[in-house]
Amino acid sequence: MLPLPVLEQAAAELTNYRGSGMSVMEMSHRSKVYVEIFNETKAKLKRIMQVPDTHEVLFMAGGATMQFAAVPFNLIGKTGKADYAVTGNFSGLAMKEAKKYGEINIAASSEDKNHTYIPQQDALSLSGDASYFHYCSNNTIYGTEWNYVPETGDVPLVCDMSSNILSKPVDVSKYGVIYAGVQKNMAPAGVAVVIIDKSLAGNEHPLTPKLLSYKVMIDSDSMHNTPPCYTIYMLGLVLDWLDTQGGTAGMEKIKSDKAKLLYDVLDDSKMFIGCADKAARSDMNVTFRTTSDELDAQFIKEATKLGFVNLKGHRNVGGMRASIYNAMPTEGVKKLADFVREFEAKN
Ligand code: PMP
Repeated sequence: MLPLPVLEQAAAELTNYRGSGMSVMEMSHRSKVYVEIFNETKAKLKRIMQVPDTHEVLFMAGGATMQFAAVPFNLIGKTGKADYAVTGNFSGLAMKEAKKYGEINIAASSEDKNHTYIPQQDALSLSGDASYFHYCSNNTIYGTEWNYVPETGDVPLVCDMSSNILSKPVDVSKYGVIYAGVQKNMAPAGVAVVIIDKSLAGNEHPLTPKLLSYKVMIDSDSMHNTPPCYTIYMLGLVLDWLDTQGGTAGMEKIKSDKAKLLYDVLDDSKMFIGCADKAARSDMNVTFRTTSDELDAQFIKEATKLGFVNLKGHRNVGGMRASIYNAMPTEGVKKLADFVREFEAKN
C-alpha cells in the first residue's frame, strides 16, 4: 500500500507540479525543478535514516534483484569470498547470484526448518576473510525478521532491507551497504535505494556494467543516466508522510502495535497457527495457517469477499500471509484480526 494522503497529493500535482506547468513525469531529470525534487528527497531520506557523512544514498534501477549482482560485482573482489546467511527466498536468490562472482560460504541457513526461524549470533559460522557478510533483515515470504544486527568484526555488513526498511530506526553506521527495493515501504516500484559506506566503492570488477558500479553512481549522484524520476518524487511524498507518523521511531511503535493485534489473536486461537517461531516473527509479514488446507482455502475465499486482498500465502509456506507494511492503517489490521476471530467462532 501507499499512504492515501500521498496518493491524493500525487493526484493533485499530477498534471501541474506546483505551478511548473508540467507533470513530474514529463520533467527533464536535469531541469532545475526536478533536481530540487531529487535533492530534497535524498536529503529527507538522509535525515530520517540519520545517514552519517561516511555513507551515500543512491537510487538505482533494477530493484533489489539487481543489487543481488551489484553487491558482488562491487565488493567481492577484495578477497574473492563472501559470507551469506540464507534465511528465506530472497537471501537464497542473492546467494545464488553471488556464486557467479566468487566463493560463497553459507554462514547460516534456516532451510532445515523451512525458514521458520532466524539463526542467532553464536550459530553464525563466519569465515573471517570474507569481503562482506550478506543477510536479509526481513523474510517477506516466510514472515521472519532478524531482531538483532549480526556482529561480523571487520567484515562489512550488507543487508537487503527491502521489506522492513523505514519500519524502525536503524544504525546505518554499522552497515557497509543497505539496499531495498522501494515497493514495500517507500514508493511505487521502479528503484532500489542503496546506502553505501563510500570507502567500499571503487574496487569493482572490471566487467561491472557502468550502471551497477557504486563508484559511478556516487560520482554521478545517481544520475549517470536518467533515473526513475517519478518513483523518486513519490518517495519524497512518502517520506513527508513518514514525518507525520513520527519518523522511524514513530513507525516502530505503530508497526509493533499493529502486528501485535494479529499475533495476539493467533496466540489465543485453537484454529490458527503462526508459521514463524515466536522469537523470529516479522512485524511486516504475518504468516499463519489453520490445521487444514480446506479451511485455509475457505478463509481466503471468505476474506476476499469481504475485501481483504493478497492474503494467500506463498506456495513455499502455504496458508495465509498478511503483509502489513507501513502504509497499512491500524484499522485495516483490526478488521482482519476481528475477521480471524469471527471465522474461528463460526467454524
Ligand atoms: N528482497 C526482498 C526481501 C523482497 O521482499 C523482494 C521482493 N519481494 C526482493 C528482494 C526482490 O525485489 P525486486 O522485485 O525489487 O527485485
